[in-house]
Amino acid sequence: NVHLATTIDTHTELHLVRPDPGLTHTYSNSTAHNIPEIAVSPSQGKFLSLLTTISSARNVLEIGTLGGYSSICFARALKAAAHNHNHDNGTNDQENEHKNTNGRSPRPKGKVTSIEIDPARRELSIQNLTHANVKVPEEAEVLLGAALDVLPRLGTEIEAGTRERFDFVFVDADWERQWEYFDWGVKLCKGRGSVVYVDNVVRALIEGGFVEGEGRGVGFREDREKEGERGEGLVEKVGRDGRVEAVVMQTVGAKDYDGFLMAVVK
Ligand code: SAM
Repeated sequence: NVHLATTIDTHTELHLVRPDPGLTHTYSNSTAHNIPEIAVSPSQGKFLSLLTTISSARNVLEIGTLGGYSSICFARALKAAAHNHNHDNGTNDQENEHKNTNGRSPRPKGKVTSIEIDPARRELSIQNLTHANVKVPEEAEVLLGAALDVLPRLGTEIEAGTRERFDFVFVDADWERQWEYFDWGVKLCKGRGSVVYVDNVVRALIEGGFVEGEGRGVGFREDREKEGERGEGLVEKVGRDGRVEAVVMQTVGAKDYDGFLMAVVK
């Protein structure tokens, strides 16, 4: 019941997702430029921010920028984490908030690196990020190109020591390449505890012909390969991947029925 799920999202977002003019502008400016409404919802964006915080991520890699909505969510979380590290002495004492008295060395600023194949969308995302007070490219950079061309380049830069490894990877581009992006994500990660999050895996399973039937007759098609169709999918490959522990969570909300895969590097 999508209508019910949308109503619940509206109610909970009103109370839990703080108004952010930069994010609101990103939606409206994207619509004004005829960008499809396929960005994450406010609740999903908040969820990504919270995941960034609890994973203590510093370098986020995003595949699929669109108008920069999710990039801004990541940048907000990274900025808050750096601020808290540098100004918080572990208490909630208001007086200490702006004193760097905790004796810690300053935390290097975090950064979002996002990849977008469409030049017009990349331009628009830079406009939206800048409007949201995210510094481009210091806090968020948007690389132009097909992800499978850009990712090996990032790998070369990491090997050369000119780029840091990532600790949170958000895959949100073309569904046919989810496994390739996942695999690159794990390769470009720091290591144990790094997170690779792949969006829309449930809809990709359904639209990829992995499921057939409706209602009580629904079944999972294990026989696809025999029929000469698409072989193993993301979930099966991740299941055999000894580098990670992973789970798929099904979701419902204003963005309909879907789900994400989240993997943590071992
Ligand atoms: N992460 C964005 C957000 O929530 O605000 C939404 C991303 S949108 C669902 C997917 C984006 O991936 C589109 O803008 C599309 O142009 C881009 N894309 C599609 N194929 C790509 C590829 N091979 N390489 C890089 N980007 C790609």
